[in-house]
Amino acid sequence: MRLSVKAPAKINLSLDVLYKRPDGYHEVKMVMTTIDLADRIELVPLPGEDAIRIVSQNRFVPDDCRNLAYQAAKLLKETFSIREGVAISITKHIPVAAGLAGGSSDAAATLRGLNKLWQLGLSVHELARLGAQIGSDVAFCVYGGTAVATGRGEIITPISPPPPCWVVLAKPPIGVSTAEVYRNLQLEHVNHPDVEAMIEAIERHDYAAICRSVGNVLEEVTLKKYPEVAHIKEQMRRFGADAVLMSGSGPTVFGLIEHDSRMQRVYNGLRGFCDQVFAVRLLGERHSLD
Ligand code: ATP
Repeated sequence: MRLSVKAPAKINLSLDVLYKRPDGYHEVKMVMTTIDLADRIELVPLPGEDAIRIVSQNRFVPDDCRNLAYQAAKLLKETFSIREGVAISITKHIPVAAGLAGGSSDAAATLRGLNKLWQLGLSVHELARLGAQIGSDVAFCVYGGTAVATGRGEIITPISPPPPCWVVLAKPPIGVSTAEVYRNLQLEHVNHPDVEAMIEAIERHDYAAICRSVGNVLEEVTLKKYPEVAHIKEQMRRFGADAVLMSGSGPTVFGLIEHDSRMQRVYNGLRGFCDQVFAVRLLGERHSLD
């Protein structure tokens, strides 16, 4: 039996960092939601072999133990003493090192898929708890949908999905190191977004209030180093997006747009000077484990 699993990207509608903890992690409060831009993970059992093999055509994706999907398979194999090997083939559609949690989503899809393939019978909560050992964003990606993430990002409280809309994404040709952005963050000198206002706007299903409440405390750090990110934000606003924000630690910028014709204008406008531009729907619904 081979299994194919979708691994959707996330965007942060709101991202705040509260303080640096004694253990070195940052305490965060974020609202995350999945979008219809996804990698495809294929899991093929390797009978008579004990290995985990990563297959990917993307030269930016490591094919060894650095790959988060590899780490997910290894964690399940070791925790549940699985003797069987698996080949994990990753077809990337999510840009790498983009602030869209591509690697984390691949790991989460691998956990969901292997739970089925190896008939482990784990609940979504148990999978998320395991996922958090791989990376802070993996727990959210196991659930998918829309959620508030706290702690170092691994404590997930699902909330109702926002009203449907378009998301146009534009990624400049730079990769941003999340660790470096956090290192350069000076919490006493930044504007903190109102995460509670975002949660309330989503619960009220109030699209205009969602657009007013987007915010990301990491934006200032990345914008200072990469002026092209600020330029993309300006252009997205100029072409008429309802709200514009950088996702995660960047450099991808997303625009929320309600109407089809406006989405076309923003998409076409951005394609004029940015190679990687996508127009997708906001998903907002949780994964099912079936
Ligand atoms: P986040 O928003 O969670 O910080 P990101 O979207 O910015 O993540 P990723 O696309 O996950 O970043 O990639 C970050 C790094 O992780 C890459 O430079 C790559 O070397 C490594 N990596 C490990 N596994 C994967 C994977 N399956 N897909 C892409 N990159 C991976």
